Amino acid sequence: MNANDSTTRLDFIRAIVAEDTKTNKWDGRVVTRFPPEPNGYLHIGHAKSICLNFGIAAENEGGLCNLRFDDTNPIKEEGEYVEAIKEDVRWLGFDWGGRLYFGSDYFEQMYDCAVQLIKAGKAYVCDLSPDQMREFRGTLTEPGENCPYRDRSVDENIDLFERMRAGEFPAGSRVLRAKIDMASPNLNLRDPVMYRILHAEHHRTGDKWCIYPTYDWAHGLEDSIEKITHSICTLEFENHRPLYDWFLDELGVHHPQQIEFARLNLSYTVMSKRKLQQLVQEGLVGGWDDPRMPTICGLRRRGYTSESIRNFCKRIGVNKFNSTVDIALLEHCLREDLNKTSPRVMAVLRPLKVVIENYPEGQVEELEAVNNPEDASAGTRKVPFSRELYIEQEDFMEEPPKKFYRLAPGREVRLRYAYFITCTDVVKDDSGQIVELRCTYDPATRGGDAPDGRKVKSTLHWLSAAHALEAEARLYDHLFSKEDPDDVGQGEDFKSNLNPDSLEILSSCRVEPSLGQAKPGSRYQFERLGYFCVDPDSSGERLVFNRTVTLRDPWAKIQKAQKKNK
Ligand code: ATP
Ligand code: MG
Repeated sequence: MNANDSTTRLDFIRAIVAEDTKTNKWDGRVVTRFPPEPNGYLHIGHAKSICLNFGIAAENEGGLCNLRFDDTNPIKEEGEYVEAIKEDVRWLGFDWGGRLYFGSDYFEQMYDCAVQLIKAGKAYVCDLSPDQMREFRGTLTEPGENCPYRDRSVDENIDLFERMRAGEFPAGSRVLRAKIDMASPNLNLRDPVMYRILHAEHHRTGDKWCIYPTYDWAHGLEDSIEKITHSICTLEFENHRPLYDWFLDELGVHHPQQIEFARLNLSYTVMSKRKLQQLVQEGLVGGWDDPRMPTICGLRRRGYTSESIRNFCKRIGVNKFNSTVDIALLEHCLREDLNKTSPRVMAVLRPLKVVIENYPEGQVEELEAVNNPEDASAGTRKVPFSRELYIEQEDFMEEPPKKFYRLAPGREVRLRYAYFITCTDVVKDDSGQIVELRCTYDPATRGGDAPDGRKVKSTLHWLSAAHALEAEARLYDHLFSKEDPDDVGQGEDFKSNLNPDSLEILSSCRVEPSLGQAKPGSRYQFERLGYFCVDPDSSGERLVFNRTVTLRDPWAKIQKAQKKNK
C-alpha cells in the first residue's frame, strides 16, 4: 500500500459520495454521522469510522457529521461513557459543531412510527416466550412459521402496545414485531422484534419508558430523522439493510443510503467492547485507559498522537473485505510522527555507575546537546557533565563477543555530546555483580570528536549521577502474545493469550534534570531507547514515564523487503 494512494485515489465510499454530489442526488447535501453506543470506551476501530465519517463531511462543501449516541439499550449504557466518547472524538481532532444527538431523544417519534405500522397492519404484539419465538423462527435452511398472534386485529394490537408502554406487563412477556415474512431466506426479515419490555432506568429518560426499541428498529429511524444522506456502517450490517429499507419504505420517510465497509482488525489486539470490558472488570489491565489497551484513551495515555492515528486511518484505506492490519503499521505511523516532533533527551533505564578517574572532583561542565536533529528550530540545551556518571548496564560487557562495539575493558567509546572515555577497571560486589566502572576521559575530545581524527565504534548516552533525577519507566509490549488472540484451544478463551510480559516496571531509572518539570502527556525521545511520555501518575516527587514505542521499526523492514521482491 502506498502512503499517497488514499489522497490521490478515492476509496469506494468517497467515490459514491462524489458521484451523488455530482448528480445532485441529495440536493448536494452530504450528511454523515458517527453513532456509538455508550456502552464502553472508543477503540482504534472506532477511530477508523470517525475519520471516515467526519473526514467525508469535512472534504465536501457544506458537509456535516453528527455525533449521535445510539443509547437505546438502558441496561448496558452509562453517562460516564458519553463524556469519555466526546472527549475522545475531540482529541482525535474532530468537531460535531453542536450536532450532538441522542437516539433516546427520538423515543416518542419512534413510538409514533410503530403505531403507524400497527395501523397499517404491518406490526403486531406477540406473546410468545423467547424460547417459543426461537422455535417459530426456523433456521438458515428451514423457513419459520407464523406465530399464533400474528393475525391480531389492529385495535387489539394498539390496545396491547399502549398497555405495554403503560407498564401493565412484566418484562419479557410481550414484544412488538414487524409483520414481514416468516419464510424469508434473510432471517432478519422473519418478523423481527421492534420493542421489548424492560423495566429499567435509562441514563437520560429515567423511568419514563418501560418499552425500548431494538437496535434494528431504532438505527435506521435515527438516521432518517436526522436526514443523514450516507449511512456508513460495518459489513455485519449488510444483511440488515433489507430490513432497514423495509421499515423506511413502509413508513414513507427520508431514506438514507447505507454503505458497508470492512471493520478494522489489528494483530495482537482484541477490538470488541465486550472483551475489552472483561479485561477491565477482571482487573487484567489497569482500566480502560491502561496504556496497553487499544482504546483511544489507552493509546493517548501510552503517548500516541492524534495525528499518527489519523494518518494510520488514511493509510489503511477503506474497503469491502475483512482483513487484519499488522499492528507494526500503526506503530510505524506513530514513530514517523514522533520522530519529527519529539525533543531528544538522555535517560538511563538500568543505571551503571561510571567514575572518570582523571576528571576533577567537584567540577561540573555544561555541555551543549541538540534538542531535535529533525527540527533545527528546536534548538539546543545544556546537560551537566561531572566525574560520576550513569550509563546503561547493557552498554558494557566484560567479555564482549564479536560485533559488540560498546564499552568493554580497555576500550574507548564516545559519550554523546561529551568526551571519549576508556574503561580501565571493573568493580564488583561480593557476589560478583558489576557495580561500577572506572574510566578515564580525553579532555581533547570535548563535544565528541578527537582532534587527532581517531575513531570510536560507538556512542553511548549517559547522565551525570549527581544531577540525574530518579524516575519510573513502564515498558509495554503487546497485550496478547498471539497474532490472533481469539485463536485458542478447547475450553479456553482470548484471555489465555494474554502476554505475561506486556508490562515491565523499572523503578530506579534516571533522567536528565531538564525533565523535572515535565507535565503529564509530554512526549520525548529517550536517545537510543525509544519514545516515552509522562504518565498522569507522575508528580514532582516521582516522575513516571510510559514507553510509547521503541525505536526499531519492523514495518520499515517489511516495506523494504516488499520493494525488493517486486
Ligand atoms: P464493538 O463490536 O467493538 O462493541 P460496536 O460496533 O458495537 O463495536 P458501536 O458503538 O456500535 O460499537 O460503534 C460505533 C460505530 O463504530 C459504528 O458505526 C461501527 O460500525 C463503528 N465501528 C465499531 N468497531 C469498528 C471497527 N473495528 N472498525 C471500524 N468501525 C468500527
Ligand atoms: Mg454495537
